[in-house]
Amino acid sequence: EGSSFEIMTAACSSAGRLELKQQRPAQNNRLIMARIVQKFGGTSVADLDRIRAVAQRVKAEVDAGNQVAVVVSAMSGTTNQLVEWATDIGPVHDAREYDVIVATGEQVTVGLLAIALQNIGVDARSWLGWQIALQTDDIHSSARIKGIDVAQIEDRLMQGQVAIVAGFQGISPEGRVTTLGRGGSDTSAVALAAALNADRCDIYTDVDGVYTTDPRIMPKARKLDQITFEEMLEMASAGAKVLQTRSVAMAMRHKVHLQVLSSFSDEPGTLVIDEDDVMEEQKISGIAYSRDEAKVTLVSLPDQPGIAATVFGTLAEYHINVDMIVQSASADKQNTDITFSLGALDLDKAVDCLEAIKNKLGYQALVADPDMAKVSVIGTAMRSQPGIARTMFSVLAEKGINLHVISTSEIKISVLIDSDYTELAVRSLHDVFGLETA
Ligand code: ADP
Ligand code: ASP
Ligand code: MG
Repeated sequence: EGSSFEIMTAACSSAGRLELKQQRPAQNNRLIMARIVQKFGGTSVADLDRIRAVAQRVKAEVDAGNQVAVVVSAMSGTTNQLVEWATDIGPVHDAREYDVIVATGEQVTVGLLAIALQNIGVDARSWLGWQIALQTDDIHSSARIKGIDVAQIEDRLMQGQVAIVAGFQGISPEGRVTTLGRGGSDTSAVALAAALNADRCDIYTDVDGVYTTDPRIMPKARKLDQITFEEMLEMASAGAKVLQTRSVAMAMRHKVHLQVLSSFSDEPGTLVIDEDDVMEEQKISGIAYSRDEAKVTLVSLPDQPGIAATVFGTLAEYHINVDMIVQSASADKQNTDITFSLGALDLDKAVDCLEAIKNKLGYQALVADPDMAKVSVIGTAMRSQPGIARTMFSVLAEKGINLHVISTSEIKISVLIDSDYTELAVRSLHDVFGLETA
């Protein structure tokens, strides 16, 4: 998971956190309190009034004596529109030009926020990905961050200027614009916080923290005061898009002090913390779901070494991410079935590339199902309490929900079901594990 991420600045070992704070000189004769990265998502910058409100939140941190770098997303809905244009223009899809188009939403919001701040007397300037430079690999539309050169921004922060950085975008080794995958501004913010050795990375969104499940489909969901990096990583990868998965992995690795909070209220948010700092007993922390899943079954493949390697190697060559995999035990030692799940958007591409190697693989039939959902139960309780899987499967059975694929990790159990049952499954599981009142 992006382990090659380097921080190109002199004093930023995680041990240097406190040291650096003490070394920071007073600026304009004021004591510098902390260095903070604030990130505002799409709904937080949805229109000019919201951007003015964001400017006030930034100003409050500046007035409190903090150094502030801000990462912003595009106005909500903008990136969807850009993606639509980029994919509808014609059949040829050049991923480099796709990135040039979809990265523009963030260029608008950094400029607007800079002006809004200047208008209320705060010195601010915008930075695009290539200007920093935020360097990535060349996997367009889901690029990984390789390094950030924060020297210039650090200089400006020292002078009391607010840096407003475009989320979601970077620059490839060839100097082309890249984007980090949907929801990628979270990762931009965490990477910047790590590189700047920030004291805090505050992710402002449209809910006031991380909940036991998506509060939009379960109004009884409960806000968590804190969640461990491990649990948050599992929640995010299981579909809780409140934080992009890569941002959590990066925060965990670089010990970034991460919190999720609302730009619409002043409620306390959710702190994402190290497991070592948790006093509580092991518990079930949440239910996550992801609707846009698809399933592929290759029926009656020869039961030979190398078949799975060919199937998944080919998919990987086409940058198709596979999630859950099951291979049935072959009763006759001759043939076996392989079923796997993947993002629904990749289904057509996956079917094409597996049909192209049908003769090489020698399967009898390929069955594709585009309408799947994954529902997951996450919590450290799974390490110590047997019977959680039984409770989960029983309640789903009572509701008549068929399980197509099951997968588990140390602290997560996921099932693939028909997407029509998503909400019923999430609500039933939330109830049976007592998450409302836990
Ligand atoms: P932003 O535009 O600020 O990045 P996102 O839409 O990407 O915001 O993420 C926030 C959304 O995540 C919320 O509106 C909520 O519907 C959804 N969400 C999913 N699971 C959870 C959860 N467990 N806790 C909080 N929000 C969640
Ligand atoms: N604007 C981008 C998106 O909608 C990045 C982000 O919001 O995090 O995916
Ligand atoms: Mg987001």
